[in-house]
Amino acid sequence: MDIQYDVIIIGCGPAGLTAAIYASRANLKTMILEGETPGGKLTKTYEIENYPGIKKISGVDLAMQMMEHGQEFGAELNFGKVVDVEDLGESKLIKLEDGQQFTCKAVIVATGTKERLLDVPNADQFTGRGVSYCAVCDGAFYKGKKVTVIGGGNSALEESLYLTQLVDQVNIVIRRDEFRAEAKTVEKVKSNPKINIVHKHLPHELVVEDGKVAGLVVRNVETNELTTLECSGIFPYIGADPATDFLKNLGVLNEAGYMIVDENMATKVKGIYGAGDVVVKDLRQVVTATNDGAIAANSVARLLNE
Ligand code: NAP
Repeated sequence: MDIQYDVIIIGCGPAGLTAAIYASRANLKTMILEGETPGGKLTKTYEIENYPGIKKISGVDLAMQMMEHGQEFGAELNFGKVVDVEDLGESKLIKLEDGQQFTCKAVIVATGTKERLLDVPNADQFTGRGVSYCAVCDGAFYKGKKVTVIGGGNSALEESLYLTQLVDQVNIVIRRDEFRAEAKTVEKVKSNPKINIVHKHLPHELVVEDGKVAGLVVRNVETNELTTLECSGIFPYIGADPATDFLKNLGVLNEAGYMIVDENMATKVKGIYGAGDVVVKDLRQVVTATNDGAIAANSVARLLNE
């Protein structure tokens, strides 16, 4: 059987695109496969301030630059949702939802994570109409209004700060007393006069008036008391889960679905690597994703030269 590619990289965020640069510069025949939006989560991020050498850049701009750079040295870009990766020993078979199949000698999985959805009645019905998972995309609809952000991690706080540039008030609802974000971001949030922090509460139900979101009822986690926050937009940023359903048969995932890799980004299956937010790690950042992508591609080059 002819093996079509040296390496197929699944996922087009910072990890996958860095892997594409390193793999194609190492003269490997490389394909990048993207399921949804090229650029990954970066495209939903307002601003990046901690990528060395670039003091401040919008997520979309960095994603575009990485997309261009990722294809600069000959990597092919293809679109499609991967539903299975089969290990055939020396080759790997990648199956797509639309029936396409590709073979390669090694696979780098860089599919990142998918945001967790708001779990209150009717939330899905109002997604895109009052409930949004992308402040950068939808924030402008709420100019001069009140919005509520749920979550206390880096995403929730950074996107809340972005929203304060557009809206009159941002409620941030967190379920504990403490945030999970960088200290500098927490400081900025605490000192922003447009932000109202609601501690120790969980979302309970949407308030809908005339077919539109008009508020969010939140429940005190200690007393169960219900409070209504008036708002016309709700932005849940309550974490994310790894996008690894298609890897379940390979035995390379931990209980939470993250890929278990060694310091070379290799899984226990020869020729299958992971990179970026999708692997087990402590620090999920653009810079750590690019780091993983470079290491994974270098490991593939070494394996194929053996
Ligand atoms: P995260 O760090 O996991 O934070 C999720 C937040 O949502 C936490 O405050 C969590 O509360 C809360 N939460 C979880 N489930 C909830 C529920 N069912 N109801 C209400 N609240 C809930 O997620 P993230 O902010 O999306 O970040 C993901 C990763 O990307 C992190 O590693 C983060 O550091 C990284 N990231 C980094 C940057 C940056 O460095 N600039 C920017 C964005 C993301 P608890 O704290 O109580 O669990």
